Amino acid sequence: MATPKTATKKTPKKAASQTARKSARQRTTALPTEAATRKAVIATSLQMSRSGLSPGRSGNVSCRWKSGMLITPTGMSYEALKPSDIVYVDADGESPRFARKPSSEWRFHLSAYKARPEMGAVVHTHSLHATVLACAHKPIPAFHYMIAVAGGRDIPLIPYAPFGTQELAELVAAGLEDRNALLMANHGQIAIAKDLDSALELAQEVEVLAEQFYKVLTLGNPKVLDRKEMADVLQRFQSYGQNAKSS
Ligand SMILES: [Zn+2]
Repeated sequence: MATPKTATKKTPKKAASQTARKSARQRTTALPTEAATRKAVIATSLQMSRSGLSPGRSGNVSCRWKSGMLITPTGMSYEALKPSDIVYVDADGESPRFARKPSSEWRFHLSAYKARPEMGAVVHTHSLHATVLACAHKPIPAFHYMIAVAGGRDIPLIPYAPFGTQELAELVAAGLEDRNALLMANHGQIAIAKDLDSALELAQEVEVLAEQFYKVLTLGNPKVLDRKEMADVLQRFQSYGQNAKSS
């Protein structure tokens, strides 16, 4: 047990070693290594795939890294991924010469990070019910207060553009300016958050809300919460901290 802080007069050597230990600790907690981040992208992809959120090889996961991001490669089974398969894409969309090809959806991942500088991870899936609604061109209104997890009073639908295009990247960036999750017409859904776990959790929540809304629609017109009611919910979410808008 160390002597109480107020009574301590550190020798220069002891103080230096304590400072070194402290800064080493700060480095490990504040700055994950690239290797650890690559593993975390794989772990999130596996969780996404094993939870049924992303049929087949659809969907992709990325994490902000340096000026760009680390993203899953195109056309590989998630179960087969090794850390070296995860691709670094820089802010200009360039990858190292001998890296694998990044996901064909890399453009909208990159545009999402540019639109939301405070966010650190993106999960994109073709999860069943979110995709059904996206193909029917039905955004999800505030039929349930939990819609606020996406950061607003609905989960909007962005217009269709072909996968892999800059046009789609621009639509995603515009849509994410004031929401953390979107439906993408005739395609699927995208969720952005501060870290990989939160982005996956949000994508799972969007899928649950999409399934609920789909079922409510079979009963007829849902009773949608009005602007005032949702403003109240959003206020409460922000004050809960963990569910805050930016999470
Ligand atoms: Zn897709």
